[in-house]
Amino acid sequence: MRRATHVEPAVAAALLANRRVAWVVADQALQITSLVDATGLLGATGDWLGAALLDALPELVGSESELAAVLAGRSDPLCIDFLERTDCDALAVYVRLTAAAGDVGSARALFCVFEDVTDLGISRQRLTQSRNQLLLAQRSLADTVLDLQASNTELRRLTDMKSVFVSVAAHELRTPLAVISSYADLLAQGLVGELNERQLQGLGIIRDGAERLLQVTANLLDMTRIEAGRLELVLQVLDAGALVAAVEEQRPLFEQADQHLALAVEPALPLALIDEVRATQIVVNLLSNACKYTPGGGAIAVTLRQLADGSELLLTVSDSGVGIALEDQPQIGSWLFRAQSANEISAKGVGLGLYITRSLVELHGGRFWFDSAPGVGSAFHVTFLAADAEGDLRGNDG
Ligand code: ADP
Repeated sequence: MRRATHVEPAVAAALLANRRVAWVVADQALQITSLVDATGLLGATGDWLGAALLDALPELVGSESELAAVLAGRSDPLCIDFLERTDCDALAVYVRLTAAAGDVGSARALFCVFEDVTDLGISRQRLTQSRNQLLLAQRSLADTVLDLQASNTELRRLTDMKSVFVSVAAHELRTPLAVISSYADLLAQGLVGELNERQLQGLGIIRDGAERLLQVTANLLDMTRIEAGRLELVLQVLDAGALVAAVEEQRPLFEQADQHLALAVEPALPLALIDEVRATQIVVNLLSNACKYTPGGGAIAVTLRQLADGSELLLTVSDSGVGIALEDQPQIGSWLFRAQSANEISAKGVGLGLYITRSLVELHGGRFWFDSAPGVGSAFHVTFLAADAEGDLRGNDG
């Protein structure tokens, strides 16, 4: 089989054009002696045959000594990427120029090859753009993080200020409220003179209002202590008697509201880790809610039992009251939240009691949860950790 040793110039030109390649040959004086450029990679304008190479390729001006070194074989071919040209179809293209030395007959010559690298150029441009966008995004992210840190610091400062303000205000309110309350007591006892029926009724309203305000200030103070992590319990190993007594103390509340209170205590309950004052507060909060959110004639049931594995004492307060709508339930126990059903029956309150109750239960190491159905009633459950007389927790094995 015969091998081709010579390629027709027209065929070579067509092949090169097809692959978007052009070439120029220049002599040692850098005069163009031949060229093939069917697509205009050298530049659509001008017939450069016989012209000076540096006129055709102004980008090479200043690189004469490098070109001389390439021609003399002293250095590697010279490569310049992304020359900008307008081709024969008036399209903007990127061109790669490679200038290498070669022989034409017995003379040294400079072979300049032009390749269309537009796709590569566009990809490179896009990459650069993306990199810039990424840098911008990183910078704006860093700015946002800084802003967020500043906002956080400010928020912490404002929260601290709020806590200080609330606790100062609550403290300041407590003294005059206590004075109002005790003077109202003196008046009611007739120690400052006999009062008639209407005056006594008015005094009753004043005392109730002062008591409620005192309760609100106590709750506000607890809330600021809980938020600051400054509320500490005095845990003791106690029997369920402390909880039973707290329930019994509230019995008059239900009698006044014409509600029926039933208390069921499982026999042989284990001891538990309890802060008596705070546990009483938990019981009082749950019972006063049960009373407040249950109509007259309703039923309240309190049960005390141990969980099956013996590790916890479970106190449940159930009522036959207004209940809590499903959509409100996830927020119950969060700060200042009041359910729609509470507003519907115009029950007084501020939404702090359960937040404090839940926090107190958790500080005891116990759990807090509830079930409720609107119009049927609610059941609030809290647990206390069961312990032996030495204060060691009772594990799952009892
Ligand atoms: P307050 O009673 O002062 O509004 P709480 O924190 O004690 O605040 O209770 C938060 C909310 O939970 C109440 O406003 C009420 O909507 C709902 N809630 C609490 N206990 C009951 C209950 N036993 N029955 C129905 N809703 C209740």
